[in-house]
Amino acid sequence: MPKERYLITSALPYANGPIHIGHLAGAYLPADIYARYCRLQDRETLYICGSDEHGVPITIKAEKEGVAPQEIVDEYHTRNKKAFEAFGIHFDNYSRTSLDIHHKTAQDFFTKLYEEGVFKKKTEEQLYDENKQMFLPDRYVMGECPRCSYEEAYGDQCEQCGASLSPMELINPKSALTGSTPVVKKTTHWYLPLGDLQDELEDWILPKNDEWKSNVYAQVKGWLEQKLSDRAVTRDLSWGVKVPLEEAKDKVLYVWFDAPIGYISSTKEWAEQQGDPDLWKKYWQSKDTHLIHFIGKDNIVFHCLIFPAMLMAHGDYVLPENVPANEFLNLKGLKFSTSRNIAVWLDDYLEEFPPDPLRYALASTLPELRDTDFSWEDFQSRNNNELADIVGNFINRALQFAHKYFDGKVPEPGEAGEMENDLVQALKNAGKEIGESFDKFRFRDGVRAFMMAGKAANKYFNDKEPWKTRKDDIRDCATAIYYSIQTAKALAVYMYPIMPFSAERIWKMLNLDSSVEEQKWERAAVFTIEPGHVLNDPEILFEKYDDDVIQKQIEKLQSRIVEPAEEEDMDYTPPPVKEEISFDDFQDLDLRVALVKEAAAIPKADKLLKLQIDLGSETRQIVAGIAKRFDPGELVGRRIIVVANLAPATLMGEKSEGMLLAAEGDDQFGLLTVPDDLPTGSPIR
Ligand SMILES: [Zn+2]
Repeated sequence: MPKERYLITSALPYANGPIHIGHLAGAYLPADIYARYCRLQDRETLYICGSDEHGVPITIKAEKEGVAPQEIVDEYHTRNKKAFEAFGIHFDNYSRTSLDIHHKTAQDFFTKLYEEGVFKKKTEEQLYDENKQMFLPDRYVMGECPRCSYEEAYGDQCEQCGASLSPMELINPKSALTGSTPVVKKTTHWYLPLGDLQDELEDWILPKNDEWKSNVYAQVKGWLEQKLSDRAVTRDLSWGVKVPLEEAKDKVLYVWFDAPIGYISSTKEWAEQQGDPDLWKKYWQSKDTHLIHFIGKDNIVFHCLIFPAMLMAHGDYVLPENVPANEFLNLKGLKFSTSRNIAVWLDDYLEEFPPDPLRYALASTLPELRDTDFSWEDFQSRNNNELADIVGNFINRALQFAHKYFDGKVPEPGEAGEMENDLVQALKNAGKEIGESFDKFRFRDGVRAFMMAGKAANKYFNDKEPWKTRKDDIRDCATAIYYSIQTAKALAVYMYPIMPFSAERIWKMLNLDSSVEEQKWERAAVFTIEPGHVLNDPEILFEKYDDDVIQKQIEKLQSRIVEPAEEEDMDYTPPPVKEEISFDDFQDLDLRVALVKEAAAIPKADKLLKLQIDLGSETRQIVAGIAKRFDPGELVGRRIIVVANLAPATLMGEKSEGMLLAAEGDDQFGLLTVPDDLPTGSPIR
């Protein structure tokens, strides 16, 4: 029977910053566990990834640091590749989208769809930054999300609710480059008509109700119900894959058009490295390939709708079989934020700890169906109480006994009793349960089943009491050690997908041939170590971490958090100065000192307050959009500045005769006031 073929991908990380544990828990650790497990199951497995080196986050960072985008991506590609390797994320190839092979693959893909007449060419209005003289696609604009009102939604997506957006939908859009309010200008782009592919996408996705994770399926179904609309796949930018059309020389492919093609080009690069440049086709262009995309929930729309639509429109490719997207991992209630430095950075972690305890702690708390929290306390408790006290302790005791009382060799066992039979059964069940959980992308269940096997092993050792039997029943003691050594081998295989480094260390201590990587899952619990086999010296498998070690990490995390106000102050870019006006124009404005006599909320208008103000000569009502900034009570008695000759208006049924003056930064807000000794009604010149 030919081997089943698995093509596994992890979302291409943007090469604009380091990897943190939130990324690992989303798209990398589960994929690596799965790929390692597939290899042990003797499946033909290819695990592909690479750096996404295009897109607006990279050019924005380059702009801020005053360097070329290539400099940014070179730095982070190298750094992230190294960190992934050190953490044991074992890609068969980690490519990058700035390579020629990727540009050519993406352009060929576009050309094929263009020639098939798939795209719609449209001239539409887009946001334009007049200061920078450029269009503002995607993350070049920020504003309020029209779905959930999150105020820092990007032009392509709201990270709060996951909605996929277009810049024109944002409320109060602002240029991410200058902070200015963009203007609207016309430009021409090529659109992927997702609406035309809706039926085909539904026929493919809707039957996956039972196979796909409920969080993923529900999101995709929601989008299908809203009806899909055309998506532009080109952009007015200079950094990216050039659109291969003469009439679009100045445009590049939309990063979400080129990035998933990165999986294909990374596979092509791998095939070239194997000396068989066509080998990639076996994976991408065979209908029987199991294509599995591991991603975070913010990428669901791209992997479950847009990329499959592209693949369908192209026609030569296999479609993803499953997209087991994870939700977000938070830091004890905090949301990871690169800009605020709220993160546990992978390279930082690796400077102080070995990879496996974190792999285990993360795998135990993966945000598989809902957001979860990472905490250093949980990391400590899982490491100390589970890894060290249960698994590490068992393996260490078994090997120590073999060395102390059986010359460092596997002893000849006596007859198996009930305890032995129970242990063997527990190991077989564990193999089945861990495997079934991994196959259903329920990695937490798999990790739990592994730890249950560890507990069963530890219990066996305790119940056998070899420290007693070595004095009065050496044969039973030998049986206990023989079974424990075989169990250590089984545990090494079962833990390998989760903790590959520790698994290989056990293998070395057991002095077994080759490596765990070469083993077969279903033979893990088969007792193959012969009596008389010489064992190596045992080492401590998992070191315990004291409170002060953990406390240091907690303090480090807290101390590095950048307060938003500070950061925004540094980054604040004032909007451009408006067009010049004459002195007469200014003189037309009648600005006055006014005293706030009363202030009250307006029912059903949660942003507005109505103020009764004294202008000296008269009392008036003005309505101001400051309800989110002030309680009515704190305004009474303040001397403010108002525009006294503004034409009256009616807001939410309330008359407003005038306007108060305030200064507004990104998120900061200040009411302009005057000293107390100025009489109400004083003009301001
Ligand atoms: Zn939203």
